[in-house]
Amino acid sequence: MPPTINMGIPGATSSVRSGGGSQAFGKRVLLAEPRGYCAGVDRAVETVERALEKHGAPVYVRHEIVHNVHVVETLAKAGAVFVDETDEVPEGAIVVFSAHGVAPTVHVEAAARNLRTIDATCPLVTKVHNEAKRFARDDYDILLVGHTGHEEVVGTAGEAPDHVQVVDNPDAVDQVTVRDPNKVIWLSQTTLSVDETMETVRRLREKFPTLQDPPSDDICYATQNRQVAVKAMAPECELVIVVGSRNSSNSVRLVEVALGAGSDAAHLVDYAEDIDPAWLEGVTTVGVTSGASVPEVLVRGVLERLAEYGYGTVQPVTTANETLVFALPREIRPPRA
Ligand code: SF4
Repeated sequence: MPPTINMGIPGATSSVRSGGGSQAFGKRVLLAEPRGYCAGVDRAVETVERALEKHGAPVYVRHEIVHNVHVVETLAKAGAVFVDETDEVPEGAIVVFSAHGVAPTVHVEAAARNLRTIDATCPLVTKVHNEAKRFARDDYDILLVGHTGHEEVVGTAGEAPDHVQVVDNPDAVDQVTVRDPNKVIWLSQTTLSVDETMETVRRLREKFPTLQDPPSDDICYATQNRQVAVKAMAPECELVIVVGSRNSSNSVRLVEVALGAGSDAAHLVDYAEDIDPAWLEGVTTVGVTSGASVPEVLVRGVLERLAEYGYGTVQPVTTANETLVFALPREIRPPRA
C-alpha cells in the first residue's frame, strides 16, 4: 500500500500515486490537482466580501460574480444583490462588475446613473479585451472563438463590435466571412476546451491561411491546468465527478475533457447531495475535480460523501502547482501602510 495522509475527511485517507492501477487498491478516489478557485475568482469573491465590509449591505453585483450557485447564494445572504443590468441599481449605489468582464457600454451606462463601480473583471479577461481593442484599432477582422451569449464573450465583443465575429464551434467556421483574408486574427474566451478551440482554429486556418494567432494564450492558465489534470486521471477512472455549476463554462468543459480522455462517465454536481448512488455501481475508481469558480468546501463534501460509499482512499493526481495571485481592484484595495 502507498503511504497515507490524513485528509481530515471522515473515513478517508490520502495516498501518493504509485501508478499501480485501480485493481491494486480497491475503491479509491483520484483527486485532481490543481482544481477549484483560480486567481481571478478568488479576487472577485474577495472584492464583494470587502465591499460589503467597507460599505455595508446592499452591494449590487451585475450578473453572477462568478458562475457558482453556492458562492452566489453565500454572498447574497451576506448582503450582495445580484442584478442583470445596471438600470436595476439605484442611482449613486455601489455596483461590482463580475469576473467575466463587461463591454464599454456598461461602464457608460453606470456612469450615467452615477453608480460607484468596482470592476472585478479578471485581469486575464482584461488582457483579451485589450487585444480586441488593439487589433480593432489596426482594422483587423477579429474572430473570437467562444460561446455566443456567454457574458465574457459579450463583454469582449463589445470592445469592438464592428470588428469582432464570434465563432461558436468548429462547424461555425463555414459561415465566417471577412473583409480581407490577409488581415484576420483569432482570439478566444478564456474558459474553453483547449482541444476544441484548436480544432476551430485549424478549420479557420484552412479557410484563412494567413490567420494570425493571439499575442499570447487567451485560454487562461487555470482552465488549461484543470484540463491537463483531468486528462491525466481520466484514463484510470470509470467515473469522474466535476464539482461546478451548469452555467460555469470551464466546469462543463471539464466533464467533456474527462469523457474525451477515457472516463466511462462524467457528471457535474453542485453539491455532494447531487451524486446519484447509481453512478457508483461497479465503479472502482472515481476521479474528482472542480471548476475554477468552486470553493474547496464543496469538494470536501463530495469526498465525504464518497467515503461513505466506501471510496476512502484518496490519491492526489498533481500536474501543476499554482501560485498566481492578483491584486484586488484599486477601488477596494486596502491603503498602503
Ligand atoms: S478562469 Fe481564468 S480568466 Fe476566468 S477568472 Fe479564473 S483565471 Fe481569470
